Amino acid sequence: MLEKEIAGFGASGRNGGWCSALFPRSTASLAKAHGLEAALAMRRAMISTVDEVGAVTAANGIDCDFVKGGTIAFAGSAVQARAADADVAEAALYGADPLERRDGSVFDPNCARVHPAKLVRGLARVVESLGATIYEQTEVTAWSPGTVTTAAGTVSAGEIVVALEGYGATLSQTHRRVLPLYSLMIATEPLPDELWVEMGIAHGQTFTDYRHLLIYGQRTADNRFAFGGRGARYHWGSAIRSGYDRDPRVFAHLRSALVRLFPQASDARITHRWGGPLGVPRDWHAGVTRDSESHISTAGGYVGDGLSTTNIAGRTLTDLILGSETELTRLPWVGHRSPNWEIEPLRFVGANLGMLAMEAADVEERVTSRSSVAAKIMGPLVGH
Ligand SMILES: Cc1cc2nc3c(=O)[nH]c(=O)nc-3n(C[C@H](O)[C@H](O)[C@H](O)COP(=O)(O)OP(=O)(O)OC[C@H]3O[C@@H](n4cnc5c(N)ncnc54)[C@H](O)[C@@H]3O)c2cc1C
Repeated sequence: MLEKEIAGFGASGRNGGWCSALFPRSTASLAKAHGLEAALAMRRAMISTVDEVGAVTAANGIDCDFVKGGTIAFAGSAVQARAADADVAEAALYGADPLERRDGSVFDPNCARVHPAKLVRGLARVVESLGATIYEQTEVTAWSPGTVTTAAGTVSAGEIVVALEGYGATLSQTHRRVLPLYSLMIATEPLPDELWVEMGIAHGQTFTDYRHLLIYGQRTADNRFAFGGRGARYHWGSAIRSGYDRDPRVFAHLRSALVRLFPQASDARITHRWGGPLGVPRDWHAGVTRDSESHISTAGGYVGDGLSTTNIAGRTLTDLILGSETELTRLPWVGHRSPNWEIEPLRFVGANLGMLAMEAADVEERVTSRSSVAAKIMGPLVGH
C-alpha cells in the first residue's frame, strides 16, 4: 500500500464514526437505475456490512468503541415530520430497512458508533500482521498497467487498486472523477451521564435530523458529542489544503445547530474542531470497478457513507481480483462508472449554489413551515 501521509490521514481517520447501512443513492433511485432486485440486494449487503465491520473488529481485537446502538433522526418541525413519514413509508414499501417511527423521530437500528481513527489504525495493524507493507510518506503521482509512479521511484504491480477518494481530485488522472467536499466537525468536553439521560442519547447511538444541509452526531465512548455537518464551501479547482479543514463560520453554525437540537448542551465547551474532504462522484453513485485487461481497479465515491462501504468495496475487490463470481460481484454498484464533473467555472458555481440552496431551504422551511421548492429543484445536484 502506498500512502502519501500516514495510514488514516484521510477521511477514514477523521469522520463522524457512523458505521451505517447508508448508501449515497436511495433505494428508489437504485431501483430506477438497476431494477428492484438489484437495489434490494445492495440494501441487504449494506445492512449486513454493519455487523461485518463489528465482527472484523472483534475478531482482530481492534478496540475502536464499536457499539451498535442505532441512529435517531429527529423530525423537529412539521416539514421534517412529513419527510420522516415519507422515509418510513419508503422503507416499508421496499421492506429491507426496519425503520421505526417514534414520537418526534425515526429510529434505524442499523448503525454502529465507532472511533474512526482507532478503527483505521487498528485495521492498518491487522493488514501489516497479515504480511502487507504500508509505505507511508509515499506520494503516488501516476499509474499505468503494471506500474505505479511515486515521488520516490517506480513500483511494479500485477494489480493496481486506486482508492484515493476525495484526494483523487489532486491527481491529473482522476481530477474530474470526484469532487472533494469538505465536512467539518466539533467535539464537546465530556458531559455528565445525567445530562445524556435527559437528552435521550444512549451509549453507541448516533443522531441526525431531516434538514437539507446534512448534520450528524454521536455520543463518544468518553461521553462527548462529536458533531459534524456540511456547509463548508467547495474550493476552486477542487483544491485540497489543510487550512480548509477549519472554517470558523461552519464551526459556529455547527455549535448553534447542536444547541438547537440539545439545549441542555448549551454550556458545553467545544474542545476540538476539525474537518476533511470526502469524495463526491458526479451522480452521487459509489462504485467498484476492475478492468480485466489493464488489471487496474477503482473503489470510491462514497460521499458521507464510506465507513462501512469501504469494507464492502474491499471484499468485492478481493473477489473481482481473484476472479470469483459471488453475490458481492453481482451487486449493482460493481462496474458503475460515474460521469466526469464539469470543468471550472461550472463546477465551482454548481457546487456552491447547491450548498447555498440547501442552507437557504432549511431557513425557509423553519420560517414558513412549508417544504422548500428550491430544495426540490436543487436536491438532485446535492445528493437528495
Ligand atoms: C468529516 C467527515 C465526516 C464523515 N463522517 C462519516 C460517517 O460518519 N460515516 C461514514 O460512513 N462516512 C463518513 N465520512 C466519509 C468517510 O470517511 C469516507 O467515505 C471514507 O473514509 C473514505 O475512505 P477511503 O479509504 O476511500 O479514503 P480516505 O480515508 O480519504 O483515504 C485516502 C488516502 O489517500 C491518501 N492519498 C492522497 N493522495 C495520495 C497520493 N498522491 N498518493 C498516495 N496516497 C495518497 C490520503 O493521505 C488518504 O490517507 C466522513 C468524511 C469526513 C471528511
